[in-house]
Amino acid sequence: MTSGSLDDGDAARVGTAQPLDADIIVIGAGAAGLWAAAVAAREGASVLVLEKTERAGTKILASGGTRCNLTTTLGPQAAAKLFGAAERFILPALKALPPATVRQHFHALGVPTVEEPELEKVFPASQRARDVRDALRDDALRAGVRIWYEARVHGLAPATAPPDGTWTVTLAGKTLRCQKLLVCPGGQSYPLTGTTGDGYRWITSLGLSLTPPVPALVPLSSDEPWVHALSGIAIANAHARLHDPEDRIVARRERPVLFTHHGLSGPGAMDLSVHVAHAARVGSTRGWTVAIDLLPESDLDALRALLTEAASRPGAPHLARTLHDGLPGRILAAVTAQAGLDDPNPPLNKVDRRTRNRLADALKGLRVPVSGTLGWDKAEVTGGGLALTEVERTTLEVARHPGLYVFGELLDLTGPIGGLNFQAAFATANLAARHAARTLAPALG
Ligand SMILES: Cc1cc2nc3c(=O)[nH]c(=O)nc-3n(C[C@H](O)[C@H](O)[C@H](O)COP(=O)(O)OP(=O)(O)OC[C@H]3O[C@@H](n4cnc5c(N)ncnc54)[C@H](O)[C@@H]3O)c2cc1C
Repeated sequence: MTSGSLDDGDAARVGTAQPLDADIIVIGAGAAGLWAAAVAAREGASVLVLEKTERAGTKILASGGTRCNLTTTLGPQAAAKLFGAAERFILPALKALPPATVRQHFHALGVPTVEEPELEKVFPASQRARDVRDALRDDALRAGVRIWYEARVHGLAPATAPPDGTWTVTLAGKTLRCQKLLVCPGGQSYPLTGTTGDGYRWITSLGLSLTPPVPALVPLSSDEPWVHALSGIAIANAHARLHDPEDRIVARRERPVLFTHHGLSGPGAMDLSVHVAHAARVGSTRGWTVAIDLLPESDLDALRALLTEAASRPGAPHLARTLHDGLPGRILAAVTAQAGLDDPNPPLNKVDRRTRNRLADALKGLRVPVSGTLGWDKAEVTGGGLALTEVERTTLEVARHPGLYVFGELLDLTGPIGGLNFQAAFATANLAARHAARTLAPALG
């Protein structure tokens, strides 16, 4: 087999049947790698983790505003639905390691958790991401895992001489050999934390299919000055819809939205960002809008009726008084402008029926044009990655390369904000590690 990437000039040693350096090598000491390493070691495997940076779990430390939203209050089925097209893929992993079991595991490691139920989030009771990272790292070390820091992997390949099903991993000046190779170097978001997309090169060098990576869970940009002028306003109970240029609804999310100097942020906007990023990658975001329902409790017909009734009342009230909702004046000004009015708080008997209907439409879907995302430096995760069709969903083993497992953020698998991405990293790591450790050939090496 000629596939693989051995780019540090050390290919000669690959041909020799050098002894195994470990039963299992794990690339990346992030959330997925630390979890997988501990599971595999407890199954009896010798495990070596290779980490490019000088510490483990840097993204865990940065996560959740340094509080680490480590999982969700949802059950496996409900959590799987939030992965959209990947629902069927992720379900077996979430059933094998449900969010409730993740919480029990951390509790057993001395990190009890607490819920923030309104957004279905789970945090360590200490509110310290460091406790989560330390618990995962120390658990792996207690299980007998070796972690090498500043051990950047340059390439990986199936061993060719003899082609005995083992794998080789190249570091600067060194080649290692293992029976099973667990690949979880993360994606490309927040590159300063060590994730610079190294895994994508390995995927393509092995002839595997890669969904092009894009920044995801990232704030959206808008070129409209009126949007920037709303900076600082948060809509706590926003229902946001993403519309494509043909006005089809591409995605929707019910989460807080925040107006910023650049455009839109907050989970309601960031959860929609992967679609905008894909559109930007293939061409243009011209015509893409986020429609924000500012009054989700009222339906459109009831709102139209309310405005009509108010308009016909003697001494008709102004718009703000009619709505009784506490929407900020700057937002009402944007709504009225979108309905074609100059007055930000018009008396309703001065507004004709068609304009009243346009007002109701704008209140149920204030259209914010979006021009792109704030890019890799602000993206919490990567959209795209190894195509899920390449991986067996109950084991995370790459179908065309036995002994190779890919999981965590390197997969084309993105959940919304709310602890879903750590949960997916842990759950996919769990399946991969168990399968890899339980299918080791005892006499190899
Ligand atoms: C600011 C921020 C906040 C976030 N908050 C949350 C949150 O609250 N809840 C949530 O669920 N998710 C959150 N996420 C997303 C979450 O961090 C990721 O989904 C998760 O870390 C993915 O785990 P992973 O193990 O696949 O990858 P990572 O955690 O990124 O780990 C990959 C590891 O591989 C190492 N590596 C990379 N290349 C190589 C190489 N060539 N050789 C050796 N090692 C290598 C990296 O240094 C890194 O340590 C957040 C992300 C960011 C950036």
